[in-house]
This record gives sequence, structure tokens and C-alpha cells, in this order.
Amino acid sequence: MRILVVEDEKKVAADIARALAASGYVPDISEDGEDAWFRGETEDYSAVILDLGLPRLDGISVLKRWRTAGVATPVLILTARGSWSERVEGIDAGADDYLPKPFQIEELLARLRAVLRRTAGHATSRTEIGDVVHDPRTMQVSVAGVPIALSPLEYRAIAFLIHHRGRVVAQQELAEHIYGGDCDRDNNTLEVLIGRVRRKLGVTLIETRRGYGYVINDDDEGAKT
Ligand code: CA
Repeated sequence: MRILVVEDEKKVAADIARALAASGYVPDISEDGEDAWFRGETEDYSAVILDLGLPRLDGISVLKRWRTAGVATPVLILTARGSWSERVEGIDAGADDYLPKPFQIEELLARLRAVLRRTAGHATSRTEIGDVVHDPRTMQVSVAGVPIALSPLEYRAIAFLIHHRGRVVAQQELAEHIYGGDCDRDNNTLEVLIGRVRRKLGVTLIETRRGYGYVINDDDEGAKT
């Protein structure tokens, strides 16, 4: 699931992005309001984490512009601690939830999951590759209609590869999105993990490109070649 992180404090943004990637999400970072407004209108995100104090265009204005333009993406705002007026203004402007700064990243992830759950009926981006179906709304992967039990590591791996289907994902890149910042794992560990995913989802789904990484070919690509 793609998540837009709008935050001009680089370290905070990086911390959030890393936590999201480690939880099976695919984050994008935007560092100013104008850029965020544009991306929110032109890209398909499952949710947005929006800081309110931003350069070029403040977060409330970004949110109002999105809602006026009909962008219904769920938005979780980051507010100044104790500023009830920011919370009220944000919710009135169309925010789905808020979190005062500073916050624990675990609470951010929990609130994000709740926002995604509440808006699940309006989310998109269900993916079908052959008889494998990935629904990021439920973090569920099924084969021929049968839900498959995956460990968190297995889910992060397959969610990332499916999101980037059609291109080769380098082992190092995949490792970072599975293990977060702590990615000093050797490739053998990753291969063992991919092996487990293959046994659960079918051996042909994930292709190994020796020396490069892994790729999931979608049906359209296969038909062209
Ligand atoms: Ca800020």
C-alpha cells in the first residue's frame, strides 16, 4: 500500500517512512505543501500522513484543496501537542484522524491501520496476478480464492514484490523493505524467506534474476513477450 508522508523535518519523515516500509507499506515523502498538494491530486495513495506546519503551503490548506477537488484519500494529520484549535480545524477541513507531536511510531502505525480499516470500503488497489490475489486493505494474499497464512516478513516481501511487479527488485532493496533500517542480513537469509513464500504461493510466481534480485511478471508483460 502506498502511503504519502508529508513532513518537512527530514529525520521525522525518514523515521516514519522506515517504519511504514517495515510494516508492509510503500511510503513516499513530500517535504512541502505545494509538492504534497500536487502529489495527492495526481497519485493514487491509500492514505496520507500530513504534518500541518509546512513550507510553501500549510497542511490545512493542502487538505482543504484536496477535499474541494474531491480527493477522498484518508488523511491522518500531525498536530502540535496541546493545540486543540489545530485538531478542530484539521478535522473540519476533512482529516480522518490526528496525532499530536511528538508521538510514538507504534501509535502512528495503529492510527493508520484504523484509518485504513474505517475507509476500507473506498480503498482501491486490489491486485490479481494469475490466481494470486493481494488485497492491501486486509493485508491478505490468497491463491485460487484460498487465503494464505503469511508471517509478517513473508507478507512484507510479497506485498513489495507485487507492488513493483514487472520490474526486477534488487535483493538489497527488498531486504530494506522487509527488514527496515536493520538490513545487514545476508542474501542467503532473503533467499530462504523467498523460498518459504514460493512454497505458499506457487513456485512460478517469483522469478529469481541471478545477481540482480527478484521479479514478479504480471500477465500483461508476459503476453507482450
Ligand atoms: Ca513541520
